[in-house]
Amino acid sequence: MIAGEDLHCQQASGREQYRVTHTHRTVTDSCCSLHSNRTGRFVRTKAAFYISTAKMRGYSEQPISVASQTQERHVWDSVKKAAFILGSGLFVFAAFRNTVTWYLQLFWGASGDFWQSQWVKAHGFFQGNEWVLFFLGTMVIPTLSFWIVNGLLLIVDATGKPQLITRYRIQRGRNDPVEPAKLQQAIRTVLFNQFFLSLPMVMVMYPIMKWRGNPCGTELPTFHWVLLELCFLGLLEEIFFYYSHRLFHHPVLYKYIHKKHHEWTAPIGVVSLYCHPVEHVMSNMLPPMVGPIFLRSHVATTMLWFSLALLLSTISHCGYHLPLLPSPEFHDFHHLKFNQCYGVLGVLDRLHQTDIIFRETKAYERHTLLLSLTPLSESIPDSLKRK
Ligand SMILES: [Zn+2]
Ligand SMILES: [Zn+2]
Repeated sequence: MIAGEDLHCQQASGREQYRVTHTHRTVTDSCCSLHSNRTGRFVRTKAAFYISTAKMRGYSEQPISVASQTQERHVWDSVKKAAFILGSGLFVFAAFRNTVTWYLQLFWGASGDFWQSQWVKAHGFFQGNEWVLFFLGTMVIPTLSFWIVNGLLLIVDATGKPQLITRYRIQRGRNDPVEPAKLQQAIRTVLFNQFFLSLPMVMVMYPIMKWRGNPCGTELPTFHWVLLELCFLGLLEEIFFYYSHRLFHHPVLYKYIHKKHHEWTAPIGVVSLYCHPVEHVMSNMLPPMVGPIFLRSHVATTMLWFSLALLLSTISHCGYHLPLLPSPEFHDFHHLKFNQCYGVLGVLDRLHQTDIIFRETKAYERHTLLLSLTPLSESIPDSLKRK
């Protein structure tokens, strides 16, 4: 408690002279407790008033100045500590970032010409038919990437083997193996969404992109520009997905739309696109589509982004926390508990405090990049759950 608070409370209780000369003593009566809860600004203003009043009345100044000096020193120490921590943090971050981009740049420098020549070849092969190039880049390649990865995961889901993979299952004892009828129904819905919704949306996206710029130009964007675009696209996706997803959890919309996606309390990879058509358009398609339109992205960037978005969504639903892959614990927890972890990156959940329960669980401790072969469900078991 600061000296001024002491003074305020002491004067209020009508014992000014005694207390003013004993400003070091900490008073913990109800008055002080109340004031210590107020904002720092209020307390400081009030303190200055009472200190000057005390001075005018001829009370001893020495303890006040000693106390204020001590306080100043504390504040200065805190500022120095904060500056040191922030400075070191920034330095480490900058060093790390430079190292990573340097290596990636090296890779791109060695292969950049390769990708550029491949793109020119593709242009020549399709005789500059930009519509075909756009369709391949935004629909065929991302969809193929989705089904190649999900095809492998489906083998594990349908057979419950090999143990090499299933030992990394997040919700133990679930989907071991998945019911065939349930699996077939999920696959049918996903194919419906891709064919009848994703495909027409991509067809509409092409004239919009043409109107915005030249999505299929012969020159590929630079490495750093693609990296920057991907960061921006990720942030936009987080914003659009978080709020549309939260909206779908409104009781009215949930019952008719989002409930379908939540039929899977223990999700599997293919379930990432298993949802009501309205949800597929609003939450699965529009959030990743608005970014490239806004940025006038090259179709190569859009292809990379769509493929990445589909693969990351598959990983976050797959139900296995595999080594060296992004952690799926966050979204898996959403399927388990419904009212937590709405976003993709977790930034907006932290901001809106929609991850409070999650952060109290063992799942949160497991929400990290697995760098060993020991499953996290073994190294951080649920039995020691705090909640
Ligand atoms: Zn989901
Ligand atoms: Zn949901």
